[in-house]
Amino acid sequence: MRILIVEDELPLAEALTQILKKNNYTVDAVNDGISGLDYALSGIYDLIILDIMLPGMDGINVLKSVRKNGFSTPIILLTAKGEISDKVAGLDSGADDYLAKPFATEELLARIRAASRRKGEIVTDSTLIYGDIELNTATLKLSKEDKEIKLILKECELMELLILRKNAVTSKELIIEKLWGFDSEAEYNNVEVYISFLRKKLAFLKSCVVINTVRGVGYVLEVKG
Ligand code: CA
Repeated sequence: MRILIVEDELPLAEALTQILKKNNYTVDAVNDGISGLDYALSGIYDLIILDIMLPGMDGINVLKSVRKNGFSTPIILLTAKGEISDKVAGLDSGADDYLAKPFATEELLARIRAASRRKGEIVTDSTLIYGDIELNTATLKLSKEDKEIKLILKECELMELLILRKNAVTSKELIIEKLWGFDSEAEYNNVEVYISFLRKKLAFLKSCVVINTVRGVGYVLEVKG
């Protein structure tokens, strides 16, 4: 799961980035509203943590603009303590949740899980289920019944992406954007390498889930009968 943090207090942005990375989220952080909006409109994020008071463009306007552009990405607003009017404006503008600063790490993580559940993903804490397999994005374990295998973070992110997109074909471009970010040097063969690792691990589990190649387009999961 890829999260965007838009926060101009650099120590807080840095601390949030570290906490989320430690919890196996992929994180990008920007420090002003205009970059925040730019990044948000890329459509590659699964969730956005958005401060309200920001230079360039405030969080409420970023939020309105994201929604106006048709993105339903879950957004958690960060407000300074006690700013009730901010909370109301935020929820009216289409925020999914808000969190008053200062907040406890555990609370933020719980809100993130709740906001991604509301998006309609099949997330029970950090477990996703597809066919006969279960992916735990917190422990990076892929399992079938009592058999399990550990994934590395990129494999886990790739498996998560494929499960969340289920019957849709996932293009190599989208995989690169989600796993490495746009300005990365990653190429199609990096994707092919991780797909082949995952196929080996699915075979090891003797799962009925297969990753099909759609030539010239990308990949799609299938449950073999
Ligand atoms: Ca701020």
